[in-house]
Amino acid sequence: MDFRTTSEQQLFKKAVREYCEKYVAPRSREIDEKEAGIPDDLIKGLADIGVFGCTVPEKYGGCALPGQEMQFANIAIHELGRAELSMSLPVYMLLTIGWGGEFIQYYATEEAKQEILPKLATGDWSWGIAVTEPGGGSDVAAVKTVATKKGNKFVLNGEKAYISQVAECQARGGGHCTLVVTDPSKGLRGGMSMLAVMPNQVNGMASTTYKDMGRMGLSTGGFTYKDTEVDAKYLLGKEGRGFYHCMEGFNVARVVVSSACLGAAEKCLEIAADYAKQRTAFNRPLSKFQGISFDLAEDYVQLDFCKLMLQKAAWMIDTYYAEPGSFTQKEINIAVAECKLVAPLLAADVAKHAIMVLGGFGYTKQSPLEMALRGVMSYVAGAEGAANIMKIIISRDVFGSEFVDKG
Ligand SMILES: Cc1cc2nc3c(=O)[nH]c(=O)nc-3n(C[C@H](O)[C@H](O)[C@H](O)COP(=O)(O)OP(=O)(O)OC[C@H]3O[C@@H](n4cnc5c(N)ncnc54)[C@H](O)[C@@H]3O)c2cc1C
Repeated sequence: MDFRTTSEQQLFKKAVREYCEKYVAPRSREIDEKEAGIPDDLIKGLADIGVFGCTVPEKYGGCALPGQEMQFANIAIHELGRAELSMSLPVYMLLTIGWGGEFIQYYATEEAKQEILPKLATGDWSWGIAVTEPGGGSDVAAVKTVATKKGNKFVLNGEKAYISQVAECQARGGGHCTLVVTDPSKGLRGGMSMLAVMPNQVNGMASTTYKDMGRMGLSTGGFTYKDTEVDAKYLLGKEGRGFYHCMEGFNVARVVVSSACLGAAEKCLEIAADYAKQRTAFNRPLSKFQGISFDLAEDYVQLDFCKLMLQKAAWMIDTYYAEPGSFTQKEINIAVAECKLVAPLLAADVAKHAIMVLGGFGYTKQSPLEMALRGVMSYVAGAEGAANIMKIIISRDVFGSEFVDKG
């Protein structure tokens, strides 16, 4: 067993860290405060060093190394999480390279891949996921948006809520992998499908945006579909298999979500440790008090455990797609749900502990810690699946289906 990253992965990490420290980190507060969206020059710069292309195959304009897509995505998003503590840019990126580059690559038709993937690799388009509806997000099987097949089109009617990148995919182009009901008589086993829906290319779509507590540079909102026609070439995977495809997509997204949270947590811990070395109380630096240093050590240990688990989960997904049959879906579900259960809560705890080390200064907007806490809370609240849902997945796939309440 070799825990080292490859020389290509190390070079990629170095390039992304250098870019992020120089250009991204200094803009974090601006992205948060001006609520101005993600600056175009940062998107271009990150695209130039291969961040948007790291999950897109070369033949579609990307720079993915086959069989290592998620490992590279993990590295990129971790670095972005460290640098952009408002969490807007890491989320923008993880959705675009996860639900975009990675998911579209495996599930879209050839025609759709040729249209969408090159635009994602250059950073021109943004991408996301539209599952949640006003009636609820945890119970994915209860999705109600209907897509009726008419000739070579699906006609959509319904509504989605709490969707990230609603404004971005209209302003920049792009869209969402959207879960719909194609056969209401069949339920989740055969009745659901996924479609790539691009608001700028279809009729009958309207959107709203919400005022969130964090990730201020990124929009969250909802869509309505009224007789919205989507060409059948945008079907993702097989008709009727949408629920299962969506669960696989969630595994991909939950890896990069966890990377963003751990990257932010790592930076918060560093900020706290640096401050503790400089700040004196009772004639000594704070770092000399075990009440401070033991807490930092405990957070470091939890982070290190979770980083290792995440590296494994990313590698498992890469191996699953590169060598069919190498892992079962259940094995991947468990490894990923463990990370998504722990990483957001841990990141919120580490950010909170860091604020405590910085004392009054930590509570001001002169320190970036409060942005990190507000940002990672989106993933504690539920984005890409709430903590209890991760526990349901783990108990179901480890102990058996007797542990699932089917209502
Ligand atoms: C900032 C943000 C961005 C988001 N972006 C997207 C997006 O891009 N696309 C998208 O589709 N969705 C998105 N979501 C929605 C997210 O996926 C949902 O919030 C999440 O799935 C939870 O759904 P809900 O909010 O409807 O809560 P509910 O499903 O109503 O759950 C509320 C609470 O009850 C708990 N709960 C529910 N069922 C059970 C159970 N069986 N046992 C124990 N506890 C349970 C949950 O854990 C949660 O704590 C986003 C959410 C946020 C906050």
